Amino acid sequence: MDLAKFNKLRARSFNDQKSLLKKIAKGQTVLCSKCNQAIALNVAVKEGEKAYAKCQKGCTYIELDVA
Ligand SMILES: [Zn+2]
Repeated sequence: MDLAKFNKLRARSFNDQKSLLKKIAKGQTVLCSKCNQAIALNVAVKEGEKAYAKCQKGCTYIELDVA
């Protein structure tokens, strides 16, 4: 895979993650594309840990940059 293509793919998944997190933050239910379980936002993490959004099975796992 050439680098330009790779960067495009990365940018696209980054935007997908951002819009997904926005929906969850608004209280909308977002389902994991793999297991169809609801993705939950977990911001109650210990100090030094990052907040994350994750489905029950763990196939979708997104770390949040802003804690
Ligand atoms: Zn899943």
